[in-house]
Amino acid sequence: MHDPRTAAPQRRNGIVVLGAGLAGPVAAIYLARRFGRVTVLERHADTRHTPAGQGRSLMVILSHRGWRVLRELGLEEAVRRICVPLTARCGHLPDGSTVVTPYSRDGAPIWAVERNRLHRLLLDAAEAEPGVDLHFERPVLAVDLDTPALLVRAGTAERWIPCGHVIGCDGVHSVVRAALVEQGAHEQVSTLELAYQEIVLDLPSCDRGLMHYWPAGDALFGAFPLVSSPLFAGSVFFRKDGPWPSYAAVTGARALARQFTDVFPALAAGIPDLEQQLATKPVSTVRLTRCDTWTSGGRAVLVGDSCHAMAPFMGQGMNCAFEDVRTLVRCLDREGDWQRALTAYERSRKNDGDAIADISYQHYRTMSRLPDPRQEAEEAVARRLVALMPDRFVPLYERCAFSEESYSSALAEEQQLRSLARRIISQYGSTAVDLPDPMLRASVAAH
Ligand SMILES: Cc1cc2nc3c(=O)[nH]c(=O)nc-3n(C[C@H](O)[C@H](O)[C@H](O)COP(=O)(O)OP(=O)(O)OC[C@H]3O[C@@H](n4cnc5c(N)ncnc54)[C@H](O)[C@@H]3O)c2cc1C
Repeated sequence: MHDPRTAAPQRRNGIVVLGAGLAGPVAAIYLARRFGRVTVLERHADTRHTPAGQGRSLMVILSHRGWRVLRELGLEEAVRRICVPLTARCGHLPDGSTVVTPYSRDGAPIWAVERNRLHRLLLDAAEAEPGVDLHFERPVLAVDLDTPALLVRAGTAERWIPCGHVIGCDGVHSVVRAALVEQGAHEQVSTLELAYQEIVLDLPSCDRGLMHYWPAGDALFGAFPLVSSPLFAGSVFFRKDGPWPSYAAVTGARALARQFTDVFPALAAGIPDLEQQLATKPVSTVRLTRCDTWTSGGRAVLVGDSCHAMAPFMGQGMNCAFEDVRTLVRCLDREGDWQRALTAYERSRKNDGDAIADISYQHYRTMSRLPDPRQEAEEAVARRLVALMPDRFVPLYERCAFSEESYSSALAEEQQLRSLARRIISQYGSTAVDLPDPMLRASVAAH
């Protein structure tokens, strides 16, 4: 096998972006505009040439941070055309009532897009960018961070490819992260308690300007209107393990369909091919990761899910990954030196990655659980405070989805708001929610 250290300098690839998922093409475009040639290595075949995403219908949410990046790359208009705006999420509770939570106080929407369509558009844009070389079916088996070099498989051949800088956009199973761990970094990898299957369904009575969800304690169903059809793209989440209802508690599609019908009777009635969909759609798990080190000298850096794969319910994983790339590029522009830039990127971004992962996990707990009176009181007081003093208190979702405030600052502000709400409740008990405005203001001033 070829030894990377013997490569002649002129044969070294400059920048290699590892992974052509959602962040990879974005990173390649940004970097090619600054540094010229960028090589992208992707282990899978090109999804643009496989039949319609192999039946997957997953929707992803684009919000402010993602749009900022798409605008900078000149892709905003093209992406906007394949998106649908959503102004609120609508919870359908087991007692038949609904609760509508606007995404923002001024009615601004977030935008849902079919992941496959967005992915294809990003790949087209990267391919059209002068300097970007996309290579599919090129799994990277190992990373030598010191040289640096990548062990790449092409067909049956394996060879080391030396390079200048490695951008690890290789997702939750990152080999770049694995190489950092070999050098002493600490990673945390776990799997969300819930697994999911995608289900396409008709929801004729549901407003297409809203995201809809059905919480059921240990299970959850969420649905987004599709852009390319009058149907909705749904996902059913059941616990992976544990007692009924869970994936572990049933065997076979018929039993799974019965479980679905028991937990979501109103939905099941409108899905005539439920059993067939459950039999054919894969059960996917959600991996959660974090890592205490994101860079190796000026040579390698982690971006996106490789360093902060999170629970999906805040809709921030991709938005955060795009913002990572933008932050990295701004550090490179500012520092003019890879070593200093990567250090600055890690310093500015690591806490934010951890913060949005924490926020996303907490949001998942909030969306999946049924209303709890103690939490309800805290949330109600927090909502009152936000309404009463809109310049001082901003809802957490809005901070994440409609601003560029750092995620760690958003989390700290939310923790302060919640702690204030709890102190007001402990002072006034059950009357706290109904305190007159002047008393509530006085209470804020006193705490
Ligand atoms: C159910 C669900 C819903 C979600 N909804 C949203 C949402 O609404 N909004 C949002 O912002 N985010 C959402 N996300 C998160 C979002 O999908 C991810 O955060 C995003 O895909 C991260 O991009 P990435 O490029 O870092 O990783 P990926 O998109 O996973 O890309 C990694 C790429 O690297 C390739 N790769 C991996 N290893 C190698 C290797 N060794 N050699 C070569 N190539 C390799 C992979 O094949 C893949 O193409 C959701 C996630 C899930 C699971």
